[in-house]
Amino acid sequence: MKNTQKTLKRNIQCKSVGLHSGRKVSMTIKPAGADQGISFVRKDMAENNIIKALPSNVSDTTLATTLGLNGTRISTVEHILSAFSGLGIDNAIIETDSFEIPIMDGSALPFVSMIKEAGLKDQEKEKKYLVIKKPVSVNDESGEGKVSLIPSSRFEITYHIDFNHPAVGSQFYNFVFSREIYEREICLARTFGFLHEVEYLQARGLALGGSLQNAIVLDDNKIINKEGLRCPDEFVKHKILDAIGDLSLLGMPIIGHLIAYKSGHKLNNMLLRTLLASQDAWELKTSGSLDKSVFLPSVKSHARFPASY
Ligand SMILES: [Zn+2]
Repeated sequence: MKNTQKTLKRNIQCKSVGLHSGRKVSMTIKPAGADQGISFVRKDMAENNIIKALPSNVSDTTLATTLGLNGTRISTVEHILSAFSGLGIDNAIIETDSFEIPIMDGSALPFVSMIKEAGLKDQEKEKKYLVIKKPVSVNDESGEGKVSLIPSSRFEITYHIDFNHPAVGSQFYNFVFSREIYEREICLARTFGFLHEVEYLQARGLALGGSLQNAIVLDDNKIINKEGLRCPDEFVKHKILDAIGDLSLLGMPIIGHLIAYKSGHKLNNMLLRTLLASQDAWELKTSGSLDKSVFLPSVKSHARFPASY
């Protein structure tokens, strides 16, 4: 089966609060040519203002994934990248007038909605895939968190989180990638944070835009948001949403199985760097040259947004 690369049919514009600055950020997403990948452009800067979405350009992974190059940075890129990857977009340009992508409602759902409204355009070149051939793993320093990529005939994520908190606890989810399930189950999951952390950050001038409108917030015992959760396993699903965004920095879909235990942006990026340095662990294939056994997800869309959005 041959799949072509995809971009947007037209520009998308949005304006929403930035998580860190608390100020409104204007963002324009534009179509890009085949093989161009995803680039971020800081329109508020005169020079050195373009950063490509690449694992080697990740400069910080505290709180969010931040890209940085030659003194320029763009923060909180993982949710928009997740939406692109979930919908199968290969090429786009994202322009902002700030150092961060708008946080929207803390999930990828608003981005998915806007992209679907603009529509996807097939491009002349074939889609490329990164096929995992040998297992690659990384652990965090404490030895607790671990994330691996192992060979598989499809893109699949198995994620396990374990928080010592009565409202989160241990959650497990297995996601065999398809656009339909991404749209229905994953993209709506919001980011989450603990009240004591939010207070600590805001006292230091960080996360100034963080609110109950763009995150699930937990005190010592419970969820503070009046509306509660969008689904019982929203926490682990958000971690999967983040992992899809982080993995997409490879610039093409993966054929492989990600297995994560207590992972996060830092470990996800360590995994990508380790993978790229292990040249016998992967190979690049066009869609037409993949093994017959490879399962490529449907490109059809079946939107079913929650009534609350
Ligand atoms: Zn996130």
